[in-house]
Amino acid sequence: MSYDDNNVFAKILRGEIPNRTVLENEHVLAFHDINGQAPTHVLVIPKGKYVSFDDFAAHASDAEIVAFVRAAGQVASEEGVAPSGGGEGFRIVSNAGKNGVQEVPHFHLHVLGGRWLGRMLKKVDD
Ligand code: AMP
Repeated sequence: MSYDDNNVFAKILRGEIPNRTVLENEHVLAFHDINGQAPTHVLVIPKGKYVSFDDFAAHASDAEIVAFVRAAGQVASEEGVAPSGGGEGFRIVSNAGKNGVQEVPHFHLHVLGGRWLGRMLKKVDD
C-alpha cells in the first residue's frame, strides 16, 4: 500500500488540522486522540511517511526507530502510567491493515492507560 498524503495525520503534520500535542521532536509527534478511549489515550506517530508498523520497521532509519520508541516511553512516563515511575500501567496498540482495523493509514501507536483496560482481545467481532 502506498502512502496517502491526504490522510488525517499527514494533515496534522503539515499543520492543516490542529492537534493537542503531548511531545514533539525531530522525528516524532505525540498528541491526544480526538476520541479518547481511556483517561490516557495518546497517539505517537513518526514524522516520516510510513503506512503501518511493518512499513516503519522495514524502512525507517535507525535514528527514527530509536526516537520513536523512546518517545513512546516518554509519553507513558509523562502521563504517569509507566510502572517504572510508579504508575499503574498502560497498553500500546498498533492497528495495521484491514484485519487490524487500521483507520488512519499513517503508522501510529495508541498509548492507553489511566484505567483498567480489560483483556486484550474478545472472541466476538465488534
Ligand atoms: P486506528 O484505527 O488505529 O487507525 O486509529 C485511528 C485513531 O485516530 C482513532 O482512535 C481516532 O479517534 C484518531 N483520530 C482520528 N482523527 C483524529 C484527529 N484529527 N486528531 C486526533 N486523533 C484522531
